[in-house]
Amino acid sequence: MTLADAALLDRNDPLAPCRERFSLPENALYLDGNSLGALPRAVPARMAQMVAEEWGRDLITSWNVHDWIDLPRRTGDKLAPLIGAEPGSVIVADSTSVNLFKLLAVALEKRPERRVILTERGNFPTDLYIAEGVARFTSCDVVAGDPNQVDERTAVVLVTEVNYRTGARHDMAALTRRAHAAGALTLWDLCHSAGAVPVDLAAAGADFAVGCGYKFLNGGPGAPAFAYVAPRHQDGLRQPLQGWLGHAAPFEFSPDYRPGKGVDALRAGTPPILSMAALDAALDAFAGVDMAAVKRKADALFDLFADEIGRRAPELEILTPRDAAQRGSQISLRHPEAYAVMQALIARGVIGDFRQPDIIRLGLTPLYLRYQDVYRAAEVLGDVIATRAWDRPEFKRRAKVV
Ligand SMILES: *Cc1c(COP(=O)(O)O)cnc(C)c1O
Repeated sequence: MTLADAALLDRNDPLAPCRERFSLPENALYLDGNSLGALPRAVPARMAQMVAEEWGRDLITSWNVHDWIDLPRRTGDKLAPLIGAEPGSVIVADSTSVNLFKLLAVALEKRPERRVILTERGNFPTDLYIAEGVARFTSCDVVAGDPNQVDERTAVVLVTEVNYRTGARHDMAALTRRAHAAGALTLWDLCHSAGAVPVDLAAAGADFAVGCGYKFLNGGPGAPAFAYVAPRHQDGLRQPLQGWLGHAAPFEFSPDYRPGKGVDALRAGTPPILSMAALDAALDAFAGVDMAAVKRKADALFDLFADEIGRRAPELEILTPRDAAQRGSQISLRHPEAYAVMQALIARGVIGDFRQPDIIRLGLTPLYLRYQDVYRAAEVLGDVIATRAWDRPEFKRRAKVV
């Protein structure tokens, strides 16, 4: 493969026009959309309009006039098709961590005779920490092992579909079937799935799901997260963070709590309207996009990168599964000096990130990454390894955020 071959793939790429929907830095190859998605072009105008007109001019009336009050549901419905969720079963609210807390509590309450939250040892730390926090509160136990080892004590299986370090992907339908056969519920963390791979919560029979808005959904730094509840669990849904906006009639200001209908009961306090509007506008970048096509391109980008690295830096071990069905939309490679390698890449304009202890992690975001970008990133990484360009003290000093 040459750069010209990669450019030819771009000319024949049906997703190529989507790149125009994003505002990208001039002199960088951005392979970190799995940590913080790129800025969709529609967002700055929407934010400016929100600030000037909705906040500045219409002020408090905007809750009604611009229907701010139902924005969490509207944005949830816009997001729903990306994760195979039924209309009305997704709400945008809070952070992934907070939504994990709410839905773990819901699941435990639905299986009162069972006392175990089963999760994976390699899960993202917040999932493990929140599970442990909920378990302490409810006198339950967390078993962090193999999510397939579900038994009659398991109330809920908490699994992240795509692992943040390796990019390995679970079979959602199979794991959900196994959990249900044992009488347990499932809670899926879709942080590295939503907007990255085709997800079908309804077809998989998933019970609950959460995910964040700022990674592959491009909602901006600290964008609010989402929460999904299968329709069969929505009747009488309630959760412990029962703030006033989750009330069935918040403006009755009743001293007694009555949960709102369905996923409205997952609301707690006043939502960050500006951030939510940014996410809402960002989701328009997926308009008319078929997630199966996104996955096909992600796989082609993966293969291109893996082949080039195999040729240029065979000593780098590719940690992400080669089988396309078993991975998300990233490529993780191991190197003993992975942190320094990543700093050297960033110094040359290839933006990715480092994960403990030795992982170079690069996100593949087909809506705005071209084949030639991935080719050039592989070329730079190959050169950094071959010339040991990473072996400089300034590349080994750890920053606060990695
Ligand atoms: C990014 C990520 C989170 C983030 O949680 P926040 O509460 O939004 O900070 C949670 N879980 C997984 C698997 C993630 O990758």
